[in-house]
Amino acid sequence: MEIRQLKLSGFKSFVEPATLRIEPGLTGVVGPNGCGKSNLLEAIRWVMGENSPKSMRSGGMEDVIFAGTATRPPRDFAEVILHAADAEGEELSVTRRIERGAGSAYRVNGRDVRAKDVALVFADAATGAHSPALVSQGKIAQVIAARPDERRMMLEEAAGIAGLHVRRRDAETK
Ligand code: ATP
Ligand code: MG
Repeated sequence: MEIRQLKLSGFKSFVEPATLRIEPGLTGVVGPNGCGKSNLLEAIRWVMGENSPKSMRSGGMEDVIFAGTATRPPRDFAEVILHAADAEGEELSVTRRIERGAGSAYRVNGRDVRAKDVALVFADAATGAHSPALVSQGKIAQVIAARPDERRMMLEEAAGIAGLHVRRRDAETK
């Protein structure tokens, strides 16, 4: 899967609609502290279905909605649209929108779908909100400080073999 474009509106610090084109090759995001670099990575996770407020650095899911500043009123909704090319090169567009008091709604290629359907779109190990390809800030330090067994777990997850142990244990108890 290749992410080609990200559109954000009312998501965290991205209060005004913003469109980011992601060209093939390496993309760098630079800017001063607090300008929203990590928020961008979180937007990618969020549109892929992330539902843990902790990994969004927020208390509740609605905290991703622009909360307002001294000079700007808060927004009522946050929306992220991800355009990608899937493994077969087919265009894929995934939208997630959250409204205050109304929860999240998802669309895939313009059709309303369930959260479950989005999870299926990103079901292979290389993508999705919990993909080891998405390394959040502070995670590197966590890898260094981890105990050997924890580090092994991270490596197995990254290699896509973590599921094998679960299946082996499952087979052994039968
Ligand atoms: P650093 O270089 O320190 O890692 P960064 O570029 O990664 O910084 P982010 O952590 O992405 O910065 O952005 C943090 C900014 O986003 C803060 O200014 C914070 O106030 C703002 N922010 C986060 N959530 C919201 C929200 N719901 N509404 C408004 N602003 C928000
Ligand atoms: Mg950051």
